Amino acid sequence: MNINNVAFERSFGISSQLPPSSLPEIAFAGRSNVGKSSLLNKLFNRKSLAKVSQTPGKTATINFFSCDGVRFVDLPGYGYAKVSKAEKGRWAELIEGYFNQERNLALVVSLVDIRHAASDLDENMIAFLQDAQLPYAVALTKADKLSRQQQIKQKAALKRQLALDEDVPLVVCSSEKGDGIDELRALIGAAARG
Ligand code: GDP
Repeated sequence: MNINNVAFERSFGISSQLPPSSLPEIAFAGRSNVGKSSLLNKLFNRKSLAKVSQTPGKTATINFFSCDGVRFVDLPGYGYAKVSKAEKGRWAELIEGYFNQERNLALVVSLVDIRHAASDLDENMIAFLQDAQLPYAVALTKADKLSRQQQIKQKAALKRQLALDEDVPLVVCSSEKGDGIDELRALIGAAARG
């Protein structure tokens, strides 16, 4: 896959608008502000493919990108407290709607902030992926904010908390410094090839 061939496709505000899955999909999920947009931009070496915001709680949409026959699905960031009930409902509709459809899911990248214990919503997301037997990997974001020593400690703590199986890839990432980016690209490439 040549990352330079990525193109934004469309945003969707309601899951029933989603077109059937015509390509293998790599979906990205995580709580609001976890660093999902930054990671997508870093993966594709772009500044503003996905919008990075200082203020979390953007409008909930599912954004499609495509690159060399693979679709990248940016799911809405969950768990931002200061949004209306209606907005939270829209988030749930989109994310549940997406996973309830017959999608050609090659990989779900579930993002968790390496600095903190996983939130209840992170735990729910990963338990769902596990129960549904979907192929997934966990990206631990913002690693540059911790020392190497702390990274190792937090990686082990999160692996325990989330009860991850040995075969679930757990990638320490930094969109600032580039840690984990090649590893994620390799996982995505392998998953997309089947
Ligand atoms: P999103 O809401 O999950 O899409 O998160 P964003 O990508 O918009 O990032 C939220 C905030 O975290 C922004 O202020 C980013 O600059 C910051 N951020 C994201 N990734 C990293 C990272 O790897 N390292 C550091 N230090 N900050 C990051």
